[in-house]
Amino acid sequence: MANPEKHTCNWCGRVLVGKELAFLLKIEMMADPSPPEITKEDLKKSWVDEIEALAKAMEGMDPREAEDEVYESYSFWLCGACRIRLHKRLKYPFFSAD
Ligand SMILES: [Zn+2]
Repeated sequence: MANPEKHTCNWCGRVLVGKELAFLLKIEMMADPSPPEITKEDLKKSWVDEIEALAKAMEGMDPREAEDEVYESYSFWLCGACRIRLHKRLKYPFFSAD
């Protein structure tokens, strides 16, 4: 199925022509998935107080923002030139790519 977004580079905005190859960039960002370490001090804490503190901290939080903090993903289409620019920045982050 044809994807209309695939015909425009999401980075430079250039419209891809003919059979020009598009590159899909996927980004995932998530909170540390490893379980938190439980200490003896943690076991002494009151769980009711802990849950109340957590609920209070989340009170003013936008539910979507709270969800994004746990996991978010994005997809972008890039043209060949932008793919090379990004490739150099990721592969050689200490050198200027341009
Ligand atoms: Zn581009």
